[in-house]
Amino acid sequence: MSSLLITNAHLLHPEDGELSDVSWLEAADGRIAGHGTGRPPTVSEDVPVLDVAGATVLPGLIDAHVHLLLTTFDPKEAAGWTPGYATVRALKEAERMLRRGFTTVRDVGGADYGMARAIEEGLAVGPRLVYGGKALSQTGGHGDIRPLGDDAMPCCQSRPAFARIADGADEVCAAARDEFRKGASHLKILISGGVASPHDEVSAVQYTDEEIRAAVTEAEQHNRYVTAHAYHPRSVNRALRAGVRSVEHGNLIDDETIGLLLEHDAFLVPTLVTYDQMAQFGKAAGMPEQSYKKIADVHAAAMSALERAHTAGVNLVFGTDLLGPLHSAQLQEFALRAEIQPAADILRAATTTAARLLRMEGDIGTLDVGAHADLLVVDGDPLDDIRVLTRPEQTLRHVIKAGTVI
Ligand code: ZN
Ligand code: ZN
Repeated sequence: MSSLLITNAHLLHPEDGELSDVSWLEAADGRIAGHGTGRPPTVSEDVPVLDVAGATVLPGLIDAHVHLLLTTFDPKEAAGWTPGYATVRALKEAERMLRRGFTTVRDVGGADYGMARAIEEGLAVGPRLVYGGKALSQTGGHGDIRPLGDDAMPCCQSRPAFARIADGADEVCAAARDEFRKGASHLKILISGGVASPHDEVSAVQYTDEEIRAAVTEAEQHNRYVTAHAYHPRSVNRALRAGVRSVEHGNLIDDETIGLLLEHDAFLVPTLVTYDQMAQFGKAAGMPEQSYKKIADVHAAAMSALERAHTAGVNLVFGTDLLGPLHSAQLQEFALRAEIQPAADILRAATTTAARLLRMEGDIGTLDVGAHADLLVVDGDPLDDIRVLTRPEQTLRHVIKAGTVI
């Protein structure tokens, strides 16, 4: 939480998608205290002054779909890790995310209170961590990663894991309460098959209406919301009708889905880069064969879903969903979206719209006075070419979190 004066900057305001004339920006006690053109204010001697010589200053980026804990593709390998080792690996990835320019991430399966606390206390370097604890999966669903020969009862509650098993409205309700007890900011439910899960089909529907409604009711009673992993309209559309607030992936959505997203002011978090990376490097990265085969089911459809949602004006949010060694491609999501969307829209997905989804509007993703002073200093104009964000080693001069240069 510190103070800082930035001078000679072009300020990029994602709200209107414009770059300011040469400006100053002052941060005090970790928050944005003011900005303007003309003469910078006089600050006391102990406040550092950062003359950025004409560079662009924009709000720190938000990735709304990460799994810090999933640092390998190999479930057998991960099963042998102690909670401590798994957490240290996860926090190392968190640091790399911050250094790529993500000052806030929403973890949608795996991260917990301890990780968020370690970052908040400065024990680990990382983005603001908004976490939902473990995702809820039905038996045999996307979160049930037991091999076919394993008849052991799922035991994931007591270990670091991406998901936990809950069957029936009562168990869903109890598991939701337990995650909220542990500080979850949202509840993630897995309502269709997925690529990484070994045995389900991508188009398979998981959970009943009754179970989904139980999750939504429980979340609303806690003033929280439900987000759902889903690909196919069969699962997405019923979830939206049941009150689910955001849809992760959504590659196979139809016109009815678009209508429901608009009607409910819900959010769509496409994750293009994970399919792109898995298709290219998944095999070499140790992805199991049965998962690799499923990428084709969703890869090509991802772009057209984004295009239709963008054209219709759906609330689109930036997400990546990368696993294991593929995390290093996190910024490539910008390049893929640029094939469909104008730069200003993509920036809003990673700032203002993401902040709205996280219910942190005005706190993050903006240069407005009062927001956290989470800032990036970059060479070049991301509004002119969003790809400047994908080459941080050449263009990203500083990452600033709560007024402190990292
Ligand atoms: Zn998913
Ligand atoms: Zn995911």
